Amino acid sequence: MRESVVATLGLGANLGDAPATVRAAVAAIAALPQTQLLRASRLYASAPIDSSGPDYVNAVVQVSSRLSAPALLAHLQTIEAAAGRERPYRNAPRTLDLDVLLYGEARISSPTLTVPHPRMYQRAFVLLPLAEIAPASVSAEALAAVRDQTVKVLEN
Ligand code: ADP
Ligand code: MG
Repeated sequence: MRESVVATLGLGANLGDAPATVRAAVAAIAALPQTQLLRASRLYASAPIDSSGPDYVNAVVQVSSRLSAPALLAHLQTIEAAAGRERPYRNAPRTLDLDVLLYGEARISSPTLTVPHPRMYQRAFVLLPLAEIAPASVSAEALAAVRDQTVKVLEN
């Protein structure tokens, strides 16, 4: 049987009831087959980068999973699609973005999956929640590099 791997996942939403969408996504991730939720950060709010619109709501979770990285991504895409089906009109913007940030120590570079996620170290909305649940995995230098980005803990 495949070994379980600790995977770190990023969640983001900025349409509709974004906090509810992120909370539901955490619950959906916790219910994935062969997967256990280890830790979930609080929800964070950040202004959109390179776009307009409402604040993004972000969180980071760690799971222990026996799913392969591509299988995990496929499950995350199914959860994204389910959230998207709740949108009120055709081709409405996606409500939910789920990313594989880290998959154990693996380095993956395929046409559909790059791990570690290539932009995670540029994003305060990834690094702050990650530092909350796995402080050893985020260096002071990494946090300093994104200190200009405003990210707040979302109360409740
Ligand atoms: P982004 O998350 O960069 O804002 P999208 O969610 O629209 O953009 O990108 C989705 C595509 O990114 C998927 O088709 C997926 O194959 C690819 N992808 C590559 N690496 C990853 C990763 N580590 N996590 C999630 N999606 C990834
Ligand atoms: Mg994505």
